[in-house]
Amino acid sequence: MIRNLSCLFIFLTFFQYLAAANAQNISIYDRTQSRTVGVLESFSIDRLQYVSVTKLAGLLNITSQPNPAAKQIQLKLPDLTVTIMAISPFVMFNELMLQMPAYCLYKNNDYLAPARYFIPLLADHAHLDIEYNESANTILITSSRANINNVIVEEMENGFLLRITTSKEFPLANIFTSESNGWFYVDFFGGLIDTFQTFTVNPEIKSIKKIVPIQLSDDTARLSFRVTVPISEKNTYIKSATEVTVTLRTRQKISEGILADLEKEREKWKIDTIIIDPGHGGRDPGAIGSSNTFEKKITLAIAKELKAELEKKLDIKVLMTREADIFPSLKERTKFANTNKGKLFLSIHTDSNPVSRLHGHTAYILGPAKTEEARRVAQFENSVIRLEDTPDDYTDLTDASFILASNAQNSFTKESEELAALIDVEIRKKCNSYSQGVKQAGFQVLYGASMPCILLETGFLSNPQDEQKLKSKSYQQDIAAAVCEGIIKFKERYESFNN
Ligand SMILES: [Zn+2]
Repeated sequence: MIRNLSCLFIFLTFFQYLAAANAQNISIYDRTQSRTVGVLESFSIDRLQYVSVTKLAGLLNITSQPNPAAKQIQLKLPDLTVTIMAISPFVMFNELMLQMPAYCLYKNNDYLAPARYFIPLLADHAHLDIEYNESANTILITSSRANINNVIVEEMENGFLLRITTSKEFPLANIFTSESNGWFYVDFFGGLIDTFQTFTVNPEIKSIKKIVPIQLSDDTARLSFRVTVPISEKNTYIKSATEVTVTLRTRQKISEGILADLEKEREKWKIDTIIIDPGHGGRDPGAIGSSNTFEKKITLAIAKELKAELEKKLDIKVLMTREADIFPSLKERTKFANTNKGKLFLSIHTDSNPVSRLHGHTAYILGPAKTEEARRVAQFENSVIRLEDTPDDYTDLTDASFILASNAQNSFTKESEELAALIDVEIRKKCNSYSQGVKQAGFQVLYGASMPCILLETGFLSNPQDEQKLKSKSYQQDIAAAVCEGIIKFKERYESFNN
């Protein structure tokens, strides 16, 4: 091998001698400008024309980096490094190694490439518009007509700077920015862009993925930026005759502090505490069934089952407004829920109606009653106030005054409605109970709860079949399981919405 190399050097020395004697010029013809723009010295060696890699790169505005120690030179293009090795037929395009039918040579610290083989290789693999016409002794090039030359993306504290260098001065009025579906566009009226040019973004900048140059029409060029964060504000200004700067403020960056706060907010809204309110109690029996069933007993029994079920299925705190036969006021129940930072409030009741054939369950949310029946139910449930020590201490929740009050106080109407609907569906499925639907009325016990809240009428004590069912432990468990399932579904949806 060494011997062969030595032989090669002897040959090369000989060729170099020849080369010096056979120097001639290749004209460089620019197809864009339709004229000869220069000459490139070439050396005819063994009937092949050799050109200087350094000088060729210079003509094409490509940066070249010689490495004399390694006897190689590199051409630096965007995304591509072309490595030419002296005294070797190999040329590397990044990792791709290609072999020419002739060697590259090294002479007076310069690298000489065989034009016939090297130029087409460069044109093909570096996508350069260059062509060697051997018989005409000409190299044809296409100089760029583009007047939008480069983009530098700089990440700032609260967004980005897009520094666009141009070879033409653009008035501000000729630059338009817009955005659509994750793309941010900068359009230049009077702009020309090389659509084959690669515009690179520092890979550390995660929020701008790529830049795509587009010639929209003869007189409008577009730079498209793939942006992965929402842009909250944009500004374009002319920095100099050759630089247009666009600033993009992104919500993400602006709000790092806000994001942290939001995270805290989300934590706050995680459903980690549920308040169950067994209706009535103590001196207030609630509704009384035809076979003398007290509502207060059924509500407490269902509440206890529900607490057990929730604690079994979810890793959350479950609190009850009463765990015994006592009489908390309606206000005390709501206050208990708020003080304990409840995230859901469920008031459990059983219905009663003079029409004994009415049966089934109803999920109520707080709102102006839309039907006489809903109004009546709320009136009945609110009537316990008469038994309280300070019955005057309540906001009037009759329909007329209600709208203002509810707007001011309950911002969870939508959530409450959704919770009610989910629970309603589960009870229908699991308990074979007729659904009276999701309704709204002015329930005092829901008023003032700063969380999604519902009042559930689990069935009619005034209906003998419902009464029998409600008295049975298995039905109480079925109701508890259904409500629990509704809460699980609500929790999943609510927490994913808020994330
Ligand atoms: Zn009740």
